[in-house]
Amino acid sequence: MSPIEPARAKTAEVERFSGWGNHPVVPAKLQRPERRKGLRPVGASSLARGQGRSYGDAALNSLGTLVLTERLDRLLGFDPKTGDLTAEAGATLEDLIEALLPLGWFLPVTPGTRFCSLGGCLAADVHGKNHHVAGSFSAHVRSFELVRADGGTAWVTPQEDPGLFWATAGGMGLTGMVSTLTLRMKKVETSWMSVTHSPARSLDELFDLLDDPVHDAEYSVAWIDGMASGSSLGRGVLMSGEHAAPDQVPSGRAALDWSPERTKSLPFSLPSWALHPLAVRLGNSVYHWAQGRRGRFVCPIEPFFYPLDSIQHWNRMYGKRGFLQYQFVAPPETARATVRTVVQSLADGGYGSFLGVLKKFGPQGEGLLSFPMPGLTLALDVPMRHGIEAVLDRMDAVVADAGGRVYLAKDARLARAAFERMYPRLEEFRQVREACDPSSRLGSDLARRLGLA
Ligand SMILES: Cc1cc2nc3c(=O)[nH]c(=O)nc-3n(C[C@H](O)[C@H](O)[C@H](O)COP(=O)(O)OP(=O)(O)OC[C@H]3O[C@@H](n4cnc5c(N)ncnc54)[C@H](O)[C@@H]3O)c2cc1C
Repeated sequence: MSPIEPARAKTAEVERFSGWGNHPVVPAKLQRPERRKGLRPVGASSLARGQGRSYGDAALNSLGTLVLTERLDRLLGFDPKTGDLTAEAGATLEDLIEALLPLGWFLPVTPGTRFCSLGGCLAADVHGKNHHVAGSFSAHVRSFELVRADGGTAWVTPQEDPGLFWATAGGMGLTGMVSTLTLRMKKVETSWMSVTHSPARSLDELFDLLDDPVHDAEYSVAWIDGMASGSSLGRGVLMSGEHAAPDQVPSGRAALDWSPERTKSLPFSLPSWALHPLAVRLGNSVYHWAQGRRGRFVCPIEPFFYPLDSIQHWNRMYGKRGFLQYQFVAPPETARATVRTVVQSLADGGYGSFLGVLKKFGPQGEGLLSFPMPGLTLALDVPMRHGIEAVLDRMDAVVADAGGRVYLAKDARLARAAFERMYPRLEEFRQVREACDPSSRLGSDLARRLGLA
C-alpha cells in the first residue's frame, strides 16, 4: 500500500495516516475499540478519529495514538414520535440514511459526503446546503456521551452543561471522545428532490443569483468555475432544491427508497499531467455548459446531496502529492470583495481547480469554534504545488482583514497568528478545554499547530 493511502499503510503497530487531502501523511499509534468501553484516551496524547474525511490534519496525531471509532457504529434507538435517533458515534451518515430514509426520515443537516461519522460531524459542527434555514449539525444534537481526558464519562446536553456542549460542537475532538449521540432527524415525504439549476456567466451574476429571493429554496449551493478568467471569472451554476412532494415522484418509482448507485473507484493516484490547467479548464467548460442547461428536474436524494460519493477515492485524482481544500467565510459587508480576491488570486496563479463551491450561510450557531457565520463561504480544491502555501498565507490575511475565518475541518496549514484573529471565542474555548483536559492528554497535529493543545 502506498504511504499516501488515506486509509492506512501498516508498519508494525505504528501506521501512517492522512486526511482526505492526502497531505500531510504522518505516523500514529492505533487503537480500534470494538465496544464503547474501549473508547478512552491512551498514553500521553490521543485523539478520536472517525472516517478521516476531514481534509488536513484535524484527525492526525503524529505524537500519539489515534482511537478509531469505525467499529462503534451501532444504532441504539429511534423514537418515531420525535425523530430522535441515538447511535454510537462511529456510525456514519450512510448508516442512518439506510435505516431511516425508507421510513420517511432524513438527516437534518448533511455535509457533501455521507461517509462521515456522527462524532466527526459534531466535532467539526458540519454545515450543509441548508445552513441558511437549519443552522449547523450541532443545532440538531439533543445530547451526547463524552469520554473525558481522565477516562470518566458525562452525558452532555445544551441545557445542563452548555459550556462543554458548545466547546465540543466544533471543538475538533479536543474536549473528549464522543461515544454516543442523539440526533433529531427530519421528516420527509419522499426520497426525491425537486431541483433547479441556474447558470451564471460571471461572479457578479452568481452573487446576484444567491441574493435573489426568487431562488430561495431550502437547499442551495453554487458550483463555481475556479479556472475561468477575464469577464467569465467566477462563472458558475446555482443549484437549489426542495424535498419533492409525493405527486412529483416519477411514475412507477417508490416515494421512499434508498438504493444508491453502485460506487465506482479511482484505483490509483493520477499522474500530475492529468491535472494540466488546460485539461481542467476544458472539463470545467463542459461541466458549466451541461449543468447550466438542466433547468428544473426531479432526482433521487443521493446525487443531489452526494455527487462525489459515487466515485470512491476520488481524492486520488490530485496525485500522490495530494491537495488542500481552502474554505473560508466572510461576512456580508466584505463577502463579495473577498471571494473575488481569492478566486482571482488562485486563477492568476494557475491554482484554480474543478471543485469550487460557493454558498450563503445563515445565522451563527453557538459552537465556540464553529465555522459558519452569516456571509458567503467559498471552498476551492487546490492541488499541492510549489508556491501554493505562500499564496494561501496571503489569502488568510485577506480573509482575516475582512472579518472572516478559515474552516478547521479542511485546514492543514493555517498559521496560529492568523487563526487567533479569526475565531473570537477562542479564549472561551481554551478555558473549557483547560478545565476538562488540564494535562493535554487529547491532542492532534492541528491542535499543536494552532496552539489549541
Ligand atoms: C467530499 C467531502 C465533502 C464534504 N462536505 C462538507 C460540507 O458540505 N460541509 C462540512 O461542514 N464539511 C464537509 N466535509 C468535511 C467533513 O464533513 C468533516 O471533516 C467531518 O468532520 C468528517 O467526519 P469524519 O468522521 O470523517 O471525521 P474525521 O475526519 O475522522 O475527524 C474530524 C474531527 O472530528 C474529531 N472526531 C471524530 N470522531 C470523534 C469522536 N467520536 N469524538 C470526538 N471527536 C471526534 C476528530 O478528532 C477530528 O478532529 C466534506 C468532506 C468531504 C471528504
